[in-house]
Amino acid sequence: MCGIISYCGNRQAIPILIDGLKRLEYRGYDSAGLSTVDKNKMVTIKTVGKVSQLENKTAGTRINSSFGIAHTRWATHGKPSETNAHPQTDCHNKISIVHNGIIENYLELKEELQNKGHQFKSQTDTEVIAHLIEDNYENDLEVAIIKSVERLVGTFGIAVIHTDYKHQIFIVKRGSPIIIGIGDNEFFAASDSNALAPYTHKMVYLSDDEIAVLNSNRFYIKNMKNEILEKKIEILDEDEYKMDKKGYEHYMLKEIFEQPESIKNAFRGRIILNEGVSKLGGLEPVLGRLKNIKKLIIVSCGTSYHAGLLGRYIFETLTELDIEIELASEFRYRRLKLNEDVAVLAISQSGETADTLAAIKEAKRKGALLLGIVNAVGTSIAQITDAGVYNHAGPEIGVASTKIYTSQLVIITLIALFIGRYQTVSFIEGSELLTALKKLPDQIKDILKNAKQIEKIALRYAHFKNFLYIGRLYNYPTAMEGALKLKEISYAHAEGYPAGEMKHGPISLIDENFPTIAIVPKDSTYDKMINNIQEIRARSGRILSITNDGEDKIKNISDDLILVPQTLSILQPILNIIPLQLFAYYIAKEKGCDVDKPRNLAKSVTVE
Ligand code: GLU
Repeated sequence: MCGIISYCGNRQAIPILIDGLKRLEYRGYDSAGLSTVDKNKMVTIKTVGKVSQLENKTAGTRINSSFGIAHTRWATHGKPSETNAHPQTDCHNKISIVHNGIIENYLELKEELQNKGHQFKSQTDTEVIAHLIEDNYENDLEVAIIKSVERLVGTFGIAVIHTDYKHQIFIVKRGSPIIIGIGDNEFFAASDSNALAPYTHKMVYLSDDEIAVLNSNRFYIKNMKNEILEKKIEILDEDEYKMDKKGYEHYMLKEIFEQPESIKNAFRGRIILNEGVSKLGGLEPVLGRLKNIKKLIIVSCGTSYHAGLLGRYIFETLTELDIEIELASEFRYRRLKLNEDVAVLAISQSGETADTLAAIKEAKRKGALLLGIVNAVGTSIAQITDAGVYNHAGPEIGVASTKIYTSQLVIITLIALFIGRYQTVSFIEGSELLTALKKLPDQIKDILKNAKQIEKIALRYAHFKNFLYIGRLYNYPTAMEGALKLKEISYAHAEGYPAGEMKHGPISLIDENFPTIAIVPKDSTYDKMINNIQEIRARSGRILSITNDGEDKIKNISDDLILVPQTLSILQPILNIIPLQLFAYYIAKEKGCDVDKPRNLAKSVTVE
């Protein structure tokens, strides 16, 4: 998820590693660290916080070494702390490793290694790799690494050093990006070429399940069958160093395009298809209590509130629970009847949202079971709640949330199924839902392929000052979230409404200058939505429809149409919001707005 940089050559390694880490800072991180070998000893320096703090820590050390590995961590397993920061080491401090990604089977491996006597220091998934390599090591590090990664399930880019292998760095990739940079008698490995921009333009891209071995004067790449591979050396020109945003003009666009991956990360390792159930390790400790819960109250703010709003329908569909959804800033002031029959589910991207935090503290006082859906590990909300599920969506830098929203919807669905399977949801219903969930990443890719088309449509709407977004049932929250995206980044006035409310007020606003974005899935709400559109047309309102129905009935009454693939009604909002994120993005860009940092807004709202 975050950053790796490694250096092997003839220069002092520490300044190059620190410089590389600074170039990776844009990716977002919570702690940093590095390892090198000096006088035959492993030297590891780590810090919570900024790379500049790590730089200060290294300043007085007089380390003399020309190879090393370094890392910026964005915690997924274990809170941000110096112990959990990377590099992670083995029992004897001979092996040091940095890792980006997630090891899904780390608990099982950890238990196995602990039974063999390995002593663990951190709460990370990463540390198992160091101990596994130690365990497999006989006399050849490369063989031990290959044997070890064969046992790993999950995603990783790793860099490994060993005190007995001076001037050698071992790099392995599966799923997480890592590239090799080739200099003059010096070699690098990094999460992206941006970190290497001042040092070399010659890159070799590793594919999954390849191992690169770097020395100060040569390098080679092998596959897991120990065969040497001939890899192409790519020469990057200046333009290609826009890697901070992976070539995207804004973080928001990059994050919209990351959704096939962030959604996969939300359900990876959490689905048991042949039992039609979700597997949520984070909820297991409270399973007994959870089974007796009668009522669930979801509390959140902003985009997370819209995820909660949809969560109400999802929980209602899949469980027998009474569901309430409440804005965190209101919840905390109400006279609430909470007891041990009630669970409160807090949803927060940052895990530090002040209102949500205050709300759950209030709920704790009154004895409710506290659950959380949080993206940032180890944060206040994650600590206060009794149990929860992490998004694992990686850092989101654009202030307007995109990939975290869809990831929250996936997690809500998994939690609802987890509870629902103890109630009335059947095996068949469960497996149908999970099968459809697994298809979402590819369906999102199909929507993203039409980004150019969506941009063209958006440009036709960029001059309007007012917008109405309407949807029903599962897509009422989609209308709210679509409107919020447009407001946040383009400063246009946009209202999200349940379509049934049109006639109770907002229809009076409609004229040719007040377009409506209608979300019209082919489900039980379809005919009613068609009626709403007719009413708007009768008042000269312009209509953009988001639908999975390409038939004339809707085409004929819409000025513009964006088609999205069809999935189960309960999951359809996850697809429907994608074109609305792009629509908002292209309008904001056209208007010259600061898309990633909209005026007056902060990413993490830590004041009430
Ligand atoms: N899963 C690892 C951890 O939590 C690596 C996180 C990252 O990619 O930064 O320590």
